[in-house]
Amino acid sequence: MIPDSHAHLDLIEDDPGEVVDAARRAGVSPVITIGITLDSSIEAVRAAERYEGVYATAGVHPNDTSSLSAEEMDRLEEIALSSEKVVAIGETGLDYYRDRSPAARQALALREHVRLARRLGKALVIHDRQAHQDVMDILLEEKAGEVPVIMHCFSGGEDLLGECVRRGYFVSFAGPLTFRRSEDARRVAALAPADKLLVETDAPFLSPEPYRGKPNVPERARLVADTLARVRSIPIEEMESILESNTETAFGIRLHGG
Ligand SMILES: [Zn+2]
Ligand SMILES: [Zn+2]
Repeated sequence: MIPDSHAHLDLIEDDPGEVVDAARRAGVSPVITIGITLDSSIEAVRAAERYEGVYATAGVHPNDTSSLSAEEMDRLEEIALSSEKVVAIGETGLDYYRDRSPAARQALALREHVRLARRLGKALVIHDRQAHQDVMDILLEEKAGEVPVIMHCFSGGEDLLGECVRRGYFVSFAGPLTFRRSEDARRVAALAPADKLLVETDAPFLSPEPYRGKPNVPERARLVADTLARVRSIPIEEMESILESNTETAFGIRLHGG
């Protein structure tokens, strides 16, 4: 199976149970569904409790942090503690591409998320859009490396990859890896250490080729994994076992009994 390390089941129009079944039939499981607001984190927990092979995260996306209060962070902690199937805090991070929330607010929220993850001993799912240096600075200052850190939809070059590897962070590749013009991303993906690789869909966003521009679904994590296996010149079966093992380590879950 190929695990989808990052999807938004609550943003996909179809019934989540059917979406997860279709993914499993296509060889994609588990699906980690990501919270982006308090409500969406509650939805994520609900889906994880309801469907086998679904895990949840609790977080407030940087774009939604303009009015994030201390009370809401407390509420987020309650949500994170409300189910064994909450495997990470996030997504959190910095997004300088969209200016929906001031940078200082985003930074404050990121720091709070890191502190929460460390307090609860849970992994961190990091969103970094055109904010590499500031994200890396804050993660270092807040000692994020004490818990597993997942750089979702990794978009950095060789230098950022090198720094992430030195710190032991996981790098998760998404649909853009399959785009025709993404030679640089594929070159970077080929260089990453095998034990730090993850794949994701970020569904309903970032559909891989040949579905670029269409709403995405978790089953397409397989297309990202296929591309990753190809650029690393390894069989897809080997890629599957690498991704399963990394998903277990990154999120602290057991995919197979024993
Ligand atoms: Zn994101
Ligand atoms: Zn996302």
